[in-house]
Amino acid sequence: MRQLVTKIPKQHRVLIAATSVFLTTILLLPSEQAAASKSSKTDSLEIGKRYSLALPDTSAEAEQEQEVAALAVLPEEDLSLNWSVLQVQKGDALSALFKKANVSQQVMLDILALGKDVKTLTRLFPGEQLEFGLDAEGDLQELRYALNHLSTLRISRNAEGHFIAEELKKEVELRSQFASAEIRSNFWSAGIAAGLSEAQIMSLAGIFGWDIDFGLDIRAGDSFSVLYETQYVDGEFISNGNIVAAQFSNQGHLYQAVRHTDGNYYKPDGASMRQAFLRAPVSFQYVSSNFNPRRLHPVLKTVRPHNGVDYAAPVGTPIMAAGDGRVIASAYNNLNGHYVFIQHANNIVTKYLHLSKRLVSKGEKVRQGEAIGRLGGTGRVTGPHLHYEFVVDGVHRNPRTVKLPQATPLQGNEKQLFTAQAEQILAQLLTKERVLLAKTSGDATAAP
Ligand SMILES: [Zn+2]
Repeated sequence: MRQLVTKIPKQHRVLIAATSVFLTTILLLPSEQAAASKSSKTDSLEIGKRYSLALPDTSAEAEQEQEVAALAVLPEEDLSLNWSVLQVQKGDALSALFKKANVSQQVMLDILALGKDVKTLTRLFPGEQLEFGLDAEGDLQELRYALNHLSTLRISRNAEGHFIAEELKKEVELRSQFASAEIRSNFWSAGIAAGLSEAQIMSLAGIFGWDIDFGLDIRAGDSFSVLYETQYVDGEFISNGNIVAAQFSNQGHLYQAVRHTDGNYYKPDGASMRQAFLRAPVSFQYVSSNFNPRRLHPVLKTVRPHNGVDYAAPVGTPIMAAGDGRVIASAYNNLNGHYVFIQHANNIVTKYLHLSKRLVSKGEKVRQGEAIGRLGGTGRVTGPHLHYEFVVDGVHRNPRTVKLPQATPLQGNEKQLFTAQAEQILAQLLTKERVLLAKTSGDATAAP
C-alpha cells in the first residue's frame, strides 16, 4: 500500500465542525418531515417518496473519492493488540490521555516529533476519541484519531520501529436517490415532503432560477423530480450530495437539467441552464405570494402606472443584481425612494425601487446575484416591496416572460459526451417517475 502522509490544516477542523452540523441537520430530517406534514393540513395531499437505485457514477468528486479510497483504505484494527479507546474530556491535555492509556511521555514526545503531520493531536476537542493499540509488552504500536467520518489519522511503527503518520480514508459509496412531488400548497413544503434537505431545495431553485421565478410563478399542479447522490460509509448514510438530474414542470412548461462533470447544469441538448439574467432578483424564500407560506400582503396596491413586477417581502431582504452590469444610478427621490439602475449588455437596463438600503454606488461594476441593496418601503408606496423593471431598448418588458440572451452552450466533443450521458440519466429519471405513478395509482385502486 502506498503511504499517504497528509498535512491537516486548521481549516480542516472548521470543516469537520461544519460537516457535523450539516450531518445533524440531515439526520433530523425525518422528524422535520413528519412535523411539516402534521403542522400544515394543506400539505397532507402532497406525495413524495425516496427510492434507491444503482446509477453509473459519473461525477468528478466521485472519481476523486474512489481514487483516494483506493490509495489508502483504513485497515481493520489489528486484533493482536490491546485496544483502549479514550474520550477527550474538557481540559484534557494530550499528556493526560497518554498517561491514562499507560503510555510513557517519551513515546508521546517521539510521536509529536513527527511534526506537522501530527500537530492536530495538540488541538483535541472534548468528545473526540483516541484509540491506543498496545502489544503484549505494553508498548504502543498504533494510535488512531478519527478526523471526521471519512478520515482517520493513524500513527504506527515501520519495520525499524519508528513511528510514521498517515491520514487514511474510508471508502465512500455513492448511491443515487429519487425524489418527486406535485406542488399543492408551495414549493418549499413539497420539497420537504419529498425528502429533500433545505440545501437541496435551495439548490433545485438555483438550477432553474434562470427559467422560473420561484417567488411568483409556482402554481398548484406544478411538479418536480430529482435524482441525487447520497454518500454511505460502511453501509451507513453520511450525507446527501449533488443533484445529478432534475426536471421541473411549471405552468405546463417542462424544464430539464443534468449536472455535467464541470459541476454546472445543462439542458439535455447541452445548452447552459445559466443565462444572462435571473428570472427574479429576490430569493423565493422571502417572497410572499399565494404559494408562499410566509405571506405578507396578499394584494399589493400600486400608486402609479405599472411597468414592472412587485415582490412583497420583509424589509431588509437582500436584492440581487439580475445580471452582470454597471450601476448607472444609485440615488433617492420622493417617488422611487432609494433606487438602483443597472446597465447590462444588449442595451438592457434593470431597475430596483423602494429600497431601505443601497449597497452599490454609481459607476460600480456588479456581478449577477451580487447584493445591490435591501428591500424597503421608501418613496411613494403603500407597503414595503421591491418594484423591479426590465427595460430593453428603452421599452419596458415583463422580466418573467421576456426571451433572454443565452449563455455559451457545450460544444464539440464535450457536447456529444454530455448529451449521450444526459439522455441516459433522464431516461432513468423518467423510469423512476413511471414506477412511482404506477405504484401510486396501484395503491389507489387496491384500496377498498
Ligand atoms: Zn411596482
